[in-house]
Amino acid sequence: MTREEAQALDAADPLARFADAFALPEGVIYLDGNSLGPPPLSAHARLAEAARAEWGEGLIRSWNTAGWIDAPLRVGGKIARLVGAGPHEVAVADSTSVNLFKLAAGALSLRSGRTTILSETGNFPTDLYTLGGLAALLGERARLRAVAPEEIVAAIDEDTAVVVLTHIHYKSARRWDMAAITAAAHAKGALVLWDLCHSVGAVAVDLNGVNADLAVGCSYKYLNGGPGAPAFLFVAERHQGAIRSPLTGWMGHAAPFAFEDAYRPAADIRAQITGTPPILALAALEAGVDLQLEADAARVEAKGRALTDLFIGEVEARCTDPALVLASPRDAAQRGLHVSFAHPQGYALVQALIARGVIGDFRAPDIARFGFSPLFLSFADAWDAAAALCDVLHSRTWDSPQFRARAAVT
Ligand SMILES: *Cc1c(COP(=O)(O)O)cnc(C)c1O
Repeated sequence: MTREEAQALDAADPLARFADAFALPEGVIYLDGNSLGPPPLSAHARLAEAARAEWGEGLIRSWNTAGWIDAPLRVGGKIARLVGAGPHEVAVADSTSVNLFKLAAGALSLRSGRTTILSETGNFPTDLYTLGGLAALLGERARLRAVAPEEIVAAIDEDTAVVVLTHIHYKSARRWDMAAITAAAHAKGALVLWDLCHSVGAVAVDLNGVNADLAVGCSYKYLNGGPGAPAFLFVAERHQGAIRSPLTGWMGHAAPFAFEDAYRPAADIRAQITGTPPILALAALEAGVDLQLEADAARVEAKGRALTDLFIGEVEARCTDPALVLASPRDAAQRGLHVSFAHPQGYALVQALIARGVIGDFRAPDIARFGFSPLFLSFADAWDAAAALCDVLHSRTWDSPQFRARAAVT
């Protein structure tokens, strides 16, 4: 493909106008929106307003007058539309790690007598770590079993309480068939807890369409909610009366402002909210979610597939370095919206690209990872990024001490 052909795709792109809604620096091709989305301009405005008028002038009155107390359910209800859930089935709370802990414990509460939490080896570390921590806390009553992805279905048995999987793998971008796995788990009486961190805002997800039980997800990746933005969680309506959260904070109480000594869980999704919500972070997140809702989800995914196909095609057509190997599924239908290439010098390669304004990231041991957020990236960006990658490889620009020094965050 020529650059002119890529530009012609941009001219016909119905999502092209969204790029103007983001504050991105000049001269940067940002291929890390799957790790930290850039700020929507509207988020800057909302943050300033929430800090000045709501916090500064409204003071504590804003819990009622500015809708602060409703924010976790209001924003959750909007995220619900992006993942095929009902508005009363999603809340914003805590981090993904904490939500995984709460909902895995909740799944055990719904399947008493069963002890196995089943997950895959190579899952995102926090998923395995929090599930392991929960199992350690529960002693005889729970154990974490992690098996290779191809063994998951066969490993679901009569002791499995919950299967915990990341829909789109953080490293390879490999995608699980949500409907098939959910059905396989249900056939054995087990529940499924989906991690949607690399899915929400990127690919179409239909939680109720696949009869999902539980889900969690990040909001600072494709939803552009801001660094450390609070996460979301989904509990299917049919489980809300019975599921028990292990973190029985006052915001999950049936009547938080009755100040009762005894804990009585809310009968709805609010029971999964622990403590006071982070209002400024929610203000920024709501701006990101509102922007996402303006775009048609099917179009977002289709553009993402086309961007990643273009990038893979151009890299493989131009880069002659045989050490660079595609580490994501080749079929766009089998992956999410990031692309990983393995290379022995992956870290230095990514640093040399960042120095040229092409920002991706590195995942140990050897993965150079490039995310293609459809709302702010163009086809010309994908073309330019592929050309830059091949140029850095062919010129060996990466081969310099400044690009080998490891930073704390890769
Ligand atoms: C990014 C990511 C997380 C992050 O969890 P935090 O609690 O926000 O740090 C968890 N799981 C997966 C699969 C991720 O990609």
